[in-house]
Amino acid sequence: MSIASPPFSSPLATRDLAVVWHPCTQMHDHESVPMLAIAQAQGAWLTDSAGRRYLDAVSSWWTCLFGHRHPRIVAALKDQLDRIDHVMLAGMTHEPAVALAEQLVKATPAGLDRVFYADNGSSAVEVALKMSFHYWRNQGQPLRQRFIALGGSYHGETIGALSVTDVELYRSTYSPLLFEPLLAPSPDAYLREPGETPEAFALRRLGDLRELLDRHAHGVAAVIVEPLVQCAGGMRMYHPAYLRGLRQLCDEFGVHLIADEIAVGFGRTGTLFACEQAAISPDFLCLSKGLTGGTLPLSAVLTTSEVYSAFYAEYARGNAFLHSHSYTGNPIACRAAWETLAIFNDEPVLERNRALSAHLANRLAPLIDHPHVADVRESGMIAAIEMVRDKATRAAYPSDERRGLRVYLHGLQRGVILRPLGNVIYFMPPYCITPDEIDLMVEVAIEGIDRACA
Ligand SMILES: *Cc1c(COP(=O)(O)O)cnc(C)c1O
Repeated sequence: MSIASPPFSSPLATRDLAVVWHPCTQMHDHESVPMLAIAQAQGAWLTDSAGRRYLDAVSSWWTCLFGHRHPRIVAALKDQLDRIDHVMLAGMTHEPAVALAEQLVKATPAGLDRVFYADNGSSAVEVALKMSFHYWRNQGQPLRQRFIALGGSYHGETIGALSVTDVELYRSTYSPLLFEPLLAPSPDAYLREPGETPEAFALRRLGDLRELLDRHAHGVAAVIVEPLVQCAGGMRMYHPAYLRGLRQLCDEFGVHLIADEIAVGFGRTGTLFACEQAAISPDFLCLSKGLTGGTLPLSAVLTTSEVYSAFYAEYARGNAFLHSHSYTGNPIACRAAWETLAIFNDEPVLERNRALSAHLANRLAPLIDHPHVADVRESGMIAAIEMVRDKATRAAYPSDERRGLRVYLHGLQRGVILRPLGNVIYFMPPYCITPDEIDLMVEVAIEGIDRACA
Protein backbone atom coordinates (compact mmCIF):
# COMPACT_ATOMS: atom_id res chain seq x y z
CA MET A 1 0.00 0.00 0.00
CA SER A 2 1.39 3.37 -0.88
CA ILE A 3 1.68 6.13 1.63
CA ALA A 4 0.63 9.56 0.45
CA SER A 5 3.04 12.19 1.61
CA PRO A 6 2.35 15.85 2.19
CA PRO A 7 4.07 17.88 -0.51
CA PHE A 8 6.40 19.91 1.65
CA SER A 9 10.14 19.94 1.81
CA SER A 10 12.75 22.57 2.59
CA PRO A 11 16.35 23.44 1.69
CA LEU A 12 17.41 22.46 5.22
CA ALA A 13 15.76 19.06 4.85
CA THR A 14 17.64 18.51 1.59
CA ARG A 15 20.96 19.37 3.21
CA ASP A 16 20.06 17.15 6.17
CA LEU A 17 19.30 14.13 4.03
CA ALA A 18 22.74 14.44 2.41
CA VAL A 19 24.69 14.17 5.70
CA VAL A 20 22.62 13.27 8.78
CA TRP A 21 21.64 9.75 9.86
CA HIS A 22 18.54 9.90 12.06
CA PRO A 23 17.64 7.77 15.10
CA CYS A 24 14.85 5.20 15.08
CA THR A 25 14.42 5.71 11.32
CA GLN A 26 14.64 3.71 8.13
CA MET A 27 16.20 6.57 6.16
CA HIS A 28 14.63 5.28 2.95
CA ASP A 29 11.24 6.34 4.37
CA HIS A 30 12.26 9.93 3.77
CA GLU A 31 11.87 9.39 0.05
CA SER A 32 8.17 9.85 0.83
CA VAL A 33 7.95 11.02 4.45
CA PRO A 34 8.81 14.71 4.91
CA MET A 35 11.75 15.74 7.07
CA LEU A 36 10.49 18.58 9.22
CA ALA A 37 12.95 21.44 9.46
CA ILE A 38 12.16 23.02 12.82
CA ALA A 39 13.14 26.65 13.18
CA GLN A 40 11.42 27.60 16.43
CA ALA A 41 9.99 25.93 19.51
CA GLN A 42 7.75 27.70 21.99
CA GLY A 43 5.40 26.23 24.60
CA ALA A 44 3.50 23.31 23.08
CA TRP A 45 4.28 24.38 19.50
CA LEU A 46 7.02 23.83 16.93
CA THR A 47 7.36 26.03 13.85
CA ASP A 48 9.09 24.83 10.69
CA SER A 49 11.23 26.87 8.32
CA ALA A 50 8.22 27.67 6.14
CA GLY A 51 6.26 28.97 9.13
CA ARG A 52 3.96 25.95 9.54
CA ARG A 53 3.06 25.22 13.16
CA TYR A 54 2.81 21.81 14.80
CA LEU A 55 1.45 20.90 18.22
CA ASP A 56 4.07 18.75 19.98
CA ALA A 57 1.68 16.09 21.31
CA VAL A 58 4.52 13.75 22.29
CA SER A 59 6.70 16.33 24.09
CA SER A 60 9.62 15.66 21.72
CA TRP A 61 10.10 12.04 22.79
CA TRP A 62 8.67 12.71 26.25
CA THR A 63 11.40 15.12 27.31
CA CYS A 64 9.68 18.48 27.14
CA LEU A 65 7.85 18.78 30.44
CA PHE A 66 6.30 22.23 30.83
CA GLY A 67 6.58 23.31 27.20
CA HIS A 68 9.48 24.40 25.04
CA ARG A 69 11.71 27.22 26.29
CA HIS A 70 10.06 27.69 29.66
CA PRO A 71 11.13 31.22 30.68
CA ARG A 72 12.46 30.17 34.10
CA ILE A 73 14.62 27.40 32.65
CA VAL A 74 15.87 29.64 29.84
CA ALA A 75 16.84 32.35 32.36
CA ALA A 76 18.60 29.82 34.62
CA LEU A 77 20.57 28.46 31.66
CA LYS A 78 21.67 31.92 30.53
CA ASP A 79 22.81 32.72 34.06
CA GLN A 80 24.66 29.41 34.36
CA LEU A 81 26.53 30.01 31.10
CA ASP A 82 28.06 33.10 32.68
CA ARG A 83 29.38 31.04 35.61
CA ILE A 84 30.66 27.55 34.69
CA ASP A 85 30.32 25.75 31.38
CA HIS A 86 31.68 22.35 32.29
CA VAL A 87 34.12 20.78 34.72
CA MET A 88 34.74 17.13 35.39
CA LEU A 89 32.90 15.75 38.40
CA ALA A 90 35.85 13.69 39.68
CA GLY A 91 37.67 15.57 42.43
CA MET A 92 35.47 18.63 41.92
CA THR A 93 31.97 19.75 42.60
CA HIS A 94 29.75 22.75 41.90
CA GLU A 95 26.54 24.26 43.18
CA PRO A 96 24.20 22.90 40.48
CA ALA A 97 25.32 19.27 41.04
CA VAL A 98 24.95 19.56 44.80
CA ALA A 99 21.73 21.56 44.88
CA LEU A 100 20.12 19.25 42.34
CA ALA A 101 21.14 16.15 44.31
CA GLU A 102 19.68 17.71 47.49
CA GLN A 103 16.42 18.48 45.70
CA LEU A 104 16.20 15.02 44.11
CA VAL A 105 16.73 13.33 47.47
CA LYS A 106 13.92 15.48 48.91
CA ALA A 107 11.50 14.93 46.02
CA THR A 108 11.90 11.16 45.52
CA PRO A 109 10.51 8.30 47.65
CA ALA A 110 11.99 7.85 51.14
CA GLY A 111 15.32 6.09 51.51
CA LEU A 112 16.81 7.25 48.21
CA ASP A 113 19.51 9.57 49.47
CA ARG A 114 22.50 9.22 47.20
CA VAL A 115 22.68 10.52 43.62
CA PHE A 116 24.93 9.29 40.78
CA TYR A 117 24.84 11.30 37.56
CA ALA A 118 25.07 10.19 33.92
CA ASP A 119 23.99 11.90 30.74
CA ASN A 120 21.14 9.96 29.16
CA GLY A 121 18.53 7.40 30.10
CA SER A 122 20.31 4.33 28.75
CA SER A 123 23.45 5.25 30.68
CA ALA A 124 21.40 5.58 33.86
CA VAL A 125 20.13 2.05 33.31
CA GLU A 126 23.69 0.82 32.73
CA VAL A 127 24.72 2.48 36.00
CA ALA A 128 21.87 0.88 37.96
CA LEU A 129 22.60 -2.60 36.53
CA LYS A 130 26.34 -2.34 37.21
CA MET A 131 25.80 -0.89 40.68
CA SER A 132 23.41 -3.66 41.70
CA PHE A 133 25.72 -6.38 40.37
CA HIS A 134 28.74 -4.75 42.02
CA TYR A 135 26.90 -4.31 45.33
CA TRP A 136 26.38 -8.07 45.56
CA ARG A 137 30.00 -8.71 44.66
CA ASN A 138 31.17 -6.33 47.38
CA GLN A 139 28.83 -8.14 49.78
CA GLY A 140 30.49 -11.48 49.01
CA GLN A 141 27.68 -12.71 46.72
CA PRO A 142 29.36 -12.61 43.31
CA LEU A 143 26.97 -15.20 41.85
CA ARG A 144 24.12 -12.74 41.80
CA GLN A 145 24.68 -11.77 38.18
CA ARG A 146 21.31 -11.97 36.48
CA PHE A 147 18.48 -9.52 36.04
CA ILE A 148 14.75 -10.04 35.81
CA ALA A 149 12.89 -7.81 33.35
CA LEU A 150 9.24 -7.70 32.36
CA GLY A 151 7.88 -8.81 29.01
CA GLY A 152 7.32 -5.76 26.81
CA SER A 153 9.74 -3.59 28.75
CA TYR A 154 12.00 -0.91 27.27
CA HIS A 155 15.05 0.37 29.13
CA GLY A 156 17.15 1.92 26.36
CA GLU A 157 19.33 0.81 23.49
CA THR A 158 22.93 0.63 24.65
CA ILE A 159 24.09 -2.99 25.00
CA GLY A 160 23.26 -3.41 28.70
CA ALA A 161 20.02 -1.44 28.61
CA LEU A 162 18.96 -3.24 25.43
CA SER A 163 19.69 -6.58 27.12
CA VAL A 164 16.90 -5.91 29.64
CA THR A 165 14.60 -4.57 26.91
CA ASP A 166 11.92 -6.84 25.48
CA VAL A 167 10.72 -4.95 22.42
CA GLU A 168 11.38 -7.00 19.26
CA LEU A 169 11.90 -4.01 17.00
CA TYR A 170 14.89 -2.76 18.96
CA ARG A 171 16.25 -6.03 20.27
CA SER A 172 16.06 -8.89 17.81
CA THR A 173 18.83 -7.87 15.37
CA TYR A 174 21.31 -7.25 18.15
CA SER A 175 20.41 -10.20 20.37
CA PRO A 176 23.71 -12.06 19.69
CA LEU A 177 25.48 -9.14 21.38
CA LEU A 178 23.26 -9.06 24.47
CA PHE A 179 23.08 -10.84 27.81
CA GLU A 180 19.89 -12.75 28.54
CA PRO A 181 17.64 -11.50 31.31
CA LEU A 182 15.02 -13.68 32.97
CA LEU A 183 11.69 -12.49 31.61
CA ALA A 184 8.67 -12.24 33.88
CA PRO A 185 5.32 -11.93 32.08
CA SER A 186 4.06 -8.36 31.97
CA PRO A 187 1.19 -7.22 34.23
CA ASP A 188 0.03 -5.08 31.26
CA ALA A 189 -3.74 -4.81 31.80
CA TYR A 190 -4.43 -5.07 28.05
CA LEU A 191 -3.45 -8.74 28.30
CA ARG A 192 -5.96 -9.62 31.03
CA GLU A 193 -8.78 -12.11 30.49
CA PRO A 194 -12.27 -10.76 29.71
CA GLY A 195 -13.96 -9.95 33.01
CA GLU A 196 -10.71 -9.92 34.95
CA THR A 197 -9.86 -6.65 36.73
CA PRO A 198 -6.46 -5.01 36.16
CA GLU A 199 -5.75 -5.56 39.85
CA ALA A 200 -6.62 -9.28 39.79
CA PHE A 201 -4.47 -9.66 36.69
CA ALA A 202 -1.56 -7.84 38.36
CA LEU A 203 -1.79 -10.21 41.32
CA ARG A 204 -1.87 -13.23 39.00
CA ARG A 205 1.28 -11.98 37.28
CA LEU A 206 2.95 -11.54 40.67
CA GLY A 207 2.40 -15.27 41.12
CA ASP A 208 4.43 -15.88 37.93
CA LEU A 209 7.18 -13.61 39.22
CA ARG A 210 7.24 -15.49 42.52
CA GLU A 211 7.80 -18.76 40.63
CA LEU A 212 10.69 -17.21 38.73
CA LEU A 213 12.26 -15.94 41.95
CA ASP A 214 11.72 -19.29 43.65
CA ARG A 215 13.84 -20.94 40.98
CA HIS A 216 16.45 -18.26 40.31
CA ALA A 217 16.68 -15.70 43.15
CA HIS A 218 20.07 -16.94 44.36
CA GLY A 219 21.58 -15.89 41.02
CA VAL A 220 19.59 -12.66 40.59
CA ALA A 221 20.91 -9.17 41.36
CA ALA A 222 17.81 -7.12 40.62
CA VAL A 223 14.39 -6.86 39.04
CA ILE A 224 14.06 -3.88 36.70
CA VAL A 225 10.68 -2.37 35.77
CA GLU A 226 9.06 0.69 34.25
CA PRO A 227 6.60 1.64 37.01
CA LEU A 228 2.91 1.73 35.91
CA VAL A 229 3.44 2.40 32.18
CA GLN A 230 5.58 0.38 29.76
CA CYS A 231 6.08 3.29 27.44
CA ALA A 232 8.09 2.40 24.32
CA GLY A 233 6.51 -1.08 24.44
CA GLY A 234 3.20 0.57 23.45
CA MET A 235 2.11 2.71 26.45
CA ARG A 236 0.87 -0.45 28.14
CA MET A 237 -0.39 0.26 31.66
CA TYR A 238 -0.73 -1.84 34.79
CA HIS A 239 -2.22 -1.69 38.27
CA PRO A 240 -0.10 -0.30 41.14
CA ALA A 241 -0.83 -3.49 43.13
CA TYR A 242 1.88 -5.08 40.97
CA LEU A 243 4.48 -2.64 42.25
CA ARG A 244 3.43 -3.17 45.86
CA GLY A 245 3.69 -6.94 45.48
CA LEU A 246 6.93 -6.62 43.55
CA ARG A 247 8.52 -4.62 46.38
CA GLN A 248 7.45 -7.32 48.85
CA LEU A 249 8.82 -10.12 46.66
CA CYS A 250 12.15 -8.32 46.21
CA ASP A 251 12.42 -7.96 49.99
CA GLU A 252 11.39 -11.57 50.59
CA PHE A 253 13.93 -12.95 48.11
CA GLY A 254 16.61 -10.37 48.89
CA VAL A 255 17.00 -8.92 45.39
CA HIS A 256 17.16 -5.26 44.37
CA LEU A 257 14.32 -3.38 42.75
CA ILE A 258 15.33 -0.97 39.98
CA ALA A 259 12.57 1.51 39.06
CA ASP A 260 13.16 3.00 35.62
CA GLU A 261 11.14 6.24 35.81
CA ILE A 262 13.03 7.78 32.90
CA ALA A 263 9.77 8.26 31.00
CA VAL A 264 7.13 8.24 33.77
CA GLY A 265 8.92 10.43 36.33
CA PHE A 266 8.15 14.10 36.94
CA GLY A 267 4.39 13.91 36.98
CA ARG A 268 3.62 11.97 33.82
CA THR A 269 1.40 9.42 35.59
CA GLY A 270 -0.29 12.02 37.80
CA THR A 271 2.04 11.77 40.80
CA LEU A 272 5.54 13.23 40.82
CA PHE A 273 6.93 9.68 40.63
CA ALA A 274 4.90 6.63 39.59
CA CYS A 275 6.22 4.58 42.56
CA GLU A 276 4.26 6.90 44.86
CA GLN A 277 1.00 5.34 43.64
CA ALA A 278 2.08 2.06 45.20
CA ALA A 279 3.71 3.78 48.19
CA ILE A 280 6.99 2.00 47.55
CA SER A 281 10.66 2.96 47.42
CA PRO A 282 12.91 1.13 44.98
CA ASP A 283 16.58 0.40 45.68
CA PHE A 284 17.53 2.27 42.51
CA LEU A 285 15.57 4.99 40.73
CA CYS A 286 16.59 5.99 37.18
CA LEU A 287 15.62 9.47 35.98
CA SER A 288 16.22 11.32 32.71
CA LYS A 289 14.02 12.71 29.87
CA GLY A 290 11.93 15.32 31.77
CA LEU A 291 14.67 15.82 34.36
CA THR A 292 15.95 18.99 32.66
CA GLY A 293 12.49 20.06 31.54
CA GLY A 294 13.47 18.83 28.09
CA THR A 295 16.36 21.20 27.50
CA LEU A 296 19.57 19.19 27.88
CA PRO A 297 20.67 15.58 28.23
CA LEU A 298 21.17 14.48 31.84
CA SER A 299 20.29 11.47 33.93
CA ALA A 300 20.51 10.48 37.56
CA VAL A 301 20.42 7.21 39.47
CA LEU A 302 19.28 7.50 43.07
CA THR A 303 20.04 4.77 45.56
CA THR A 304 20.06 4.03 49.28
CA SER A 305 22.72 4.63 51.95
CA GLU A 306 22.80 0.87 52.33
CA VAL A 307 23.95 0.40 48.73
CA TYR A 308 26.34 3.34 48.93
CA SER A 309 28.02 2.01 52.05
CA ALA A 310 28.78 -1.34 50.38
CA PHE A 311 31.19 0.55 48.11
CA TYR A 312 32.69 2.76 50.82
CA ALA A 313 35.98 1.21 51.99
CA GLU A 314 39.77 1.63 52.08
CA TYR A 315 41.08 2.09 48.53
CA ALA A 316 43.02 -1.18 48.62
CA ARG A 317 39.80 -3.17 49.02
CA GLY A 318 39.02 -2.28 45.39
CA ASN A 319 35.35 -1.71 46.14
CA ALA A 320 34.87 1.60 44.34
CA PHE A 321 32.12 1.92 41.75
CA LEU A 322 33.69 2.51 38.35
CA HIS A 323 31.51 4.18 35.79
CA SER A 324 32.34 7.54 34.29
CA HIS A 325 31.19 9.69 31.42
CA SER A 326 33.14 12.81 30.42
CA TYR A 327 30.10 15.02 30.90
CA THR A 328 28.92 13.47 34.18
CA GLY A 329 27.11 16.13 36.23
CA ASN A 330 27.47 18.84 33.58
CA PRO A 331 26.76 22.14 35.40
CA ILE A 332 24.49 23.57 32.70
CA ALA A 333 22.34 20.45 32.54
CA CYS A 334 22.22 20.21 36.35
CA ARG A 335 21.16 23.84 36.53
CA ALA A 336 18.26 23.19 34.13
CA ALA A 337 17.17 20.23 36.27
CA TRP A 338 17.49 22.22 39.47
CA GLU A 339 15.18 24.87 37.97
CA THR A 340 12.78 22.14 36.82
CA LEU A 341 12.44 20.91 40.40
CA ALA A 342 12.04 24.50 41.60
CA ILE A 343 9.06 24.90 39.25
CA PHE A 344 7.44 21.81 40.77
CA ASN A 345 8.06 23.31 44.22
CA ASP A 346 6.68 26.76 43.38
CA GLU A 347 3.74 25.96 41.14
CA PRO A 348 0.74 23.61 41.46
CA VAL A 349 1.86 21.60 38.41
CA LEU A 350 0.31 18.27 39.38
CA GLU A 351 -2.96 19.91 40.39
CA ARG A 352 -3.25 21.72 37.06
CA ASN A 353 -2.43 18.49 35.26
CA ARG A 354 -5.30 16.71 37.00
CA ALA A 355 -7.80 18.99 35.28
CA LEU A 356 -6.03 18.54 31.93
CA SER A 357 -5.88 14.77 32.17
CA ALA A 358 -9.57 14.60 33.14
CA HIS A 359 -10.38 16.69 30.07
CA LEU A 360 -8.25 14.44 27.87
CA ALA A 361 -9.86 11.27 29.23
CA ASN A 362 -13.25 12.79 28.63
CA ARG A 363 -12.51 13.60 25.01
CA LEU A 364 -11.09 10.13 24.38
CA ALA A 365 -13.96 8.22 25.99
CA PRO A 366 -16.18 7.98 22.85
CA LEU A 367 -13.33 6.29 20.95
CA ILE A 368 -13.89 3.02 22.76
CA ASP A 369 -16.88 2.49 20.43
CA HIS A 370 -14.73 2.96 17.31
CA PRO A 371 -14.79 -0.21 15.15
CA HIS A 372 -10.96 -0.30 15.01
CA VAL A 373 -10.15 0.64 18.59
CA ALA A 374 -9.69 -2.15 21.11
CA ASP A 375 -8.58 -0.11 24.11
CA VAL A 376 -8.33 3.48 25.32
CA ARG A 377 -6.21 3.96 28.43
CA GLU A 378 -4.90 6.84 30.48
CA SER A 379 -2.52 7.42 33.31
CA GLY A 380 -2.16 11.07 34.28
CA MET A 381 -0.72 12.97 31.31
CA ILE A 382 -0.28 9.82 29.20
CA ALA A 383 -3.09 8.42 27.05
CA ALA A 384 -3.06 5.72 24.39
CA ILE A 385 -5.38 4.20 21.81
CA GLU A 386 -4.93 0.64 20.62
CA MET A 387 -5.78 0.55 16.91
CA VAL A 388 -6.68 -2.99 15.76
CA ARG A 389 -7.69 -4.78 12.58
CA ASP A 390 -10.41 -6.75 14.33
CA LYS A 391 -12.08 -5.33 17.40
CA ALA A 392 -13.68 -8.62 18.49
CA THR A 393 -10.50 -10.71 18.44
CA ARG A 394 -8.15 -7.76 19.06
CA ALA A 395 -6.09 -8.99 16.10
CA ALA A 396 -3.45 -6.36 15.34
CA TYR A 397 -2.78 -4.84 11.95
CA PRO A 398 0.39 -6.39 10.48
CA SER A 399 3.24 -3.99 11.16
CA ASP A 400 4.24 -3.80 7.48
CA GLU A 401 0.91 -2.12 6.70
CA ARG A 402 2.23 0.87 8.65
CA ARG A 403 -1.14 2.14 9.75
CA GLY A 404 0.51 4.17 12.51
CA LEU A 405 2.62 5.98 9.92
CA ARG A 406 -0.57 7.02 8.12
CA VAL A 407 -1.85 8.55 11.36
CA TYR A 408 1.47 10.35 11.71
CA LEU A 409 1.27 11.73 8.16
CA HIS A 410 -2.30 12.86 8.67
CA GLY A 411 -1.17 14.62 11.86
CA LEU A 412 1.51 16.50 9.94
CA GLN A 413 -1.01 17.76 7.43
CA ARG A 414 -3.21 19.00 10.29
CA GLY A 415 -0.34 20.45 12.32
CA VAL A 416 -0.15 17.93 15.15
CA ILE A 417 2.91 15.79 15.88
CA LEU A 418 1.64 12.32 16.78
CA ARG A 419 4.30 9.64 16.59
CA PRO A 420 2.50 6.32 17.01
CA LEU A 421 4.32 3.29 18.39
CA GLY A 422 3.27 0.78 15.75
CA ASN A 423 -0.52 0.59 16.02
CA VAL A 424 -0.68 2.49 19.28
CA ILE A 425 -1.60 6.16 18.95
CA TYR A 426 -0.65 8.01 22.11
CA PHE A 427 -0.48 11.43 23.67
CA MET A 428 2.16 12.65 26.10
CA PRO A 429 1.79 16.42 25.77
CA PRO A 430 3.75 19.14 27.55
CA TYR A 431 1.99 20.36 30.70
CA CYS A 432 1.35 23.82 29.22
CA ILE A 433 -1.17 22.34 26.78
CA THR A 434 -4.63 23.98 26.92
CA PRO A 435 -8.03 22.25 26.81
CA ASP A 436 -8.54 23.65 23.29
CA GLU A 437 -5.22 22.21 22.17
CA ILE A 438 -6.20 18.86 23.70
CA ASP A 439 -9.41 18.99 21.65
CA LEU A 440 -7.41 19.64 18.49
CA MET A 441 -4.95 16.83 19.27
CA VAL A 442 -7.75 14.31 19.85
CA GLU A 443 -9.77 15.43 16.83
CA VAL A 444 -6.77 15.03 14.55
CA ALA A 445 -5.94 11.63 16.03
CA ILE A 446 -9.49 10.39 15.43
CA GLU A 447 -9.46 11.63 11.84
CA GLY A 448 -6.08 9.93 11.40
CA ILE A 449 -7.38 6.64 12.79
CA ASP A 450 -10.46 6.82 10.54
CA ARG A 451 -8.24 7.29 7.49
CA ALA A 452 -5.65 4.73 8.52
CA CYS A 453 -8.34 2.09 9.03
CA ALA A 454 -10.41 2.95 5.95
C1 LIG B 1 13.72 6.62 26.84
C2 LIG B 1 13.87 5.58 27.88
C3 LIG B 1 15.13 5.08 28.22
C4 LIG B 1 16.38 5.47 27.49
O1 LIG B 1 16.69 6.81 27.62
P1 LIG B 1 17.63 7.49 26.49
O2 LIG B 1 17.92 8.85 27.05
O3 LIG B 1 16.79 7.54 25.25
O4 LIG B 1 18.82 6.64 26.36
C5 LIG B 1 15.19 4.16 29.23
N1 LIG B 1 14.09 3.75 29.89
C6 LIG B 1 12.86 4.22 29.60
C7 LIG B 1 11.70 3.75 30.38
C8 LIG B 1 12.71 5.13 28.57
O5 LIG B 1 11.49 5.54 28.22
